[in-house]
Amino acid sequence: MSAAMKDYWRNYIGGKWVDGAAGGRITLLDPATGRPLSEVARATAADVDSAVAAARRCVTSRALIDKRPMARGRMVAEIGRKLRERSEEIATLISLDAGKRISEARGEVEGSAKYFEYYGGLAAQIEGRYIPLGDGYVDYVVPYPYGVSAHIIPWNFPLNMIARSLSAALAAGNACVVKLPELDPTAGYVLAELAEEVGLPEGAVNLICGYGHEAGAALASHSDIDQIVFTGSVVTGRKVAHAAAESLIPAVLELGGKTPGIVYGDADLDNVVAQTQAGIFFNTGQCCDTMSRLVVHDSLYDETVERLAAMAGGLSIGAGMEDPDITPLISAEQLAKVDTYAQIGVQQGARAVAGGRKLDREGNFMAPTILADVSPEDRVNKEEIFGPVLSVLKFSDPREALAIANGTEYGLAAVVFTNDLDRAIWTTERLEAGQVHVNEWGVGGVETPFGGFKNSGIGREKGVEALASYYQSKNVGMKRLQSF
Ligand code: NAD
Repeated sequence: MSAAMKDYWRNYIGGKWVDGAAGGRITLLDPATGRPLSEVARATAADVDSAVAAARRCVTSRALIDKRPMARGRMVAEIGRKLRERSEEIATLISLDAGKRISEARGEVEGSAKYFEYYGGLAAQIEGRYIPLGDGYVDYVVPYPYGVSAHIIPWNFPLNMIARSLSAALAAGNACVVKLPELDPTAGYVLAELAEEVGLPEGAVNLICGYGHEAGAALASHSDIDQIVFTGSVVTGRKVAHAAAESLIPAVLELGGKTPGIVYGDADLDNVVAQTQAGIFFNTGQCCDTMSRLVVHDSLYDETVERLAAMAGGLSIGAGMEDPDITPLISAEQLAKVDTYAQIGVQQGARAVAGGRKLDREGNFMAPTILADVSPEDRVNKEEIFGPVLSVLKFSDPREALAIANGTEYGLAAVVFTNDLDRAIWTTERLEAGQVHVNEWGVGGVETPFGGFKNSGIGREKGVEALASYYQSKNVGMKRLQSF
């Protein structure tokens, strides 16, 4: 076992490392073996109360808000630099508890560092404006942080998803309570050490780990939070949205997806195969924008299916630290769900041209799976599977391809493969998704706004757009009483 992985991790509340108030622990399991890996303190409602109270004290003290934004931003950006310094240690933690391949875990640390640098740099650019109201009046608009900002994090990018919202919330001057994912929280805890090292005030960053129905639900419905950011499934997102509505607080919801890739007859097939490998198998299919459906023009269909089957059949499989193409899924429960979906696909008429079942070995391993001849109404085309299972569908008319691509409850991302500019423009105009890419899956970065149409979410993360989620405006109007 790596030295980076401790036997036991505590919650971080108000600048102190503490056990769960009820004394419980959660055992983390190694996705590659199913064996115990480490333990974390199990936060319950009482710990959520303490964490929110610590954040509230930080808000009331004005320790963050009174700082010159340039200085606050420098601290946030400094977290990014420190993440890079400890990249190998943190990537190892992610690889061990999330089961992620180590090269992707290193990429996750790098991506997280960029969030802190980007939003740290933007802190001083959050500006107000002056509104002229005529002689004797002074009126201006001040950006004002919400106060206590709550963040609920999924397991698929256990560091990156914290970095994405925490960096922007801190840059805007909020004190934060972060509920870490209960399956793989260990990399997240490192952020507490870094927040302290860069000099952020006590209570600015609080990290707790607990089950969703306990700590997550208690945080979402807490009466003293001012704003909530949730990243996770549609089912849980609805519950969080209900709780936010009850408390009348704003919520940013980043939810699931069912990204289609439309392959026109003139597409570069080598690129399609390479991009599909990335789109469906990066993080072993456990991304919100995983390209889980390929809608292929009938002129290229047979060749595409054949080449995808060969690609999937040649992938290496192993534990994250071995850096294979395919790693274990996060949990036995997730494996059972993905395996069941692959079987439902075949029962509904699809042809498994690669994989199709979980692997007969220790750990949560699913075979990289390509399902050909999927029909638009099949469940594997409509529902989020969140694993390495690609559905391939056929089309002949561009409008048919669009109807398939847009025909789910989701609208997170979509990809178009073509060498014809008019086709690309026509299709991007009509795709119902927050991110539309041409010829490459996942074009973008921390600078580009990210979020969902339809049930894929509300609000945006990333880019300058996201900052607007972390402050409200205060209008100050003054009357001059004397003239001289
Ligand atoms: P999940 O909804 O099961 O859990 C997400 C988080 O919510 C976890 O921390 C969990 O403990 C907590 N939670 C569970 N029940 C809760 C409740 N009743 N109240 C409050 N919190 C609760 O999702 P998951 O399985 O961890 O993550 C996978 C999902 O996340 C997928 O649907 C994926 O598409 C989505 N996702 C979306 C984005 C995005 O940016 N749109 C990014 C990553 C993941």
